[in-house]
Amino acid sequence: MSVTGRCLCGAVRIVVDAPMAEISACHCDMCRRWSGSVQMGMEVPEASVSVSGPVKTYRSSHFAERAWCDTCGSALWLRDVEGRNAGVFELVPGLFDNAGGARLTREVYADRCPDGYALAGDHERISRAEYEAVNAHVAADPREGDMQ
Ligand SMILES: [Zn+2]
Ligand SMILES: [Zn+2]
Repeated sequence: MSVTGRCLCGAVRIVVDAPMAEISACHCDMCRRWSGSVQMGMEVPEASVSVSGPVKTYRSSHFAERAWCDTCGSALWLRDVEGRNAGVFELVPGLFDNAGGARLTREVYADRCPDGYALAGDHERISRAEYEAVNAHVAADPREGDMQ
């Protein structure tokens, strides 16, 4: 069974032939700046995704790109282009009705969440140090992490 998502203007359509069960949220500096607050994504294998429409991408770090609709600016995905997760899409939940039925299961850079808001729930919370201990390629990028 496939699920179809779309951007705000409808020019970009994304069809997914895989279950979207889990949402991961990220509070790292790059995700906060790009998303405007907190970035959320649902991991989906490359082979199960088909995309049509005017997509633009920005290589936000040496290993990943971020994509948006060139007409309306809606965020579409974060995707690793190098490394062990290369090709895996992290599609934004807002493209799909009811977030594709997925639930928030993981919050990374949880200790970097600004003081003024928080995500409720009993999902897993991972600090910056915990995340970078197992994702050394992220810490190696000068644009990730502290930018103050
Ligand atoms: Zn659009
Ligand atoms: Zn992030």
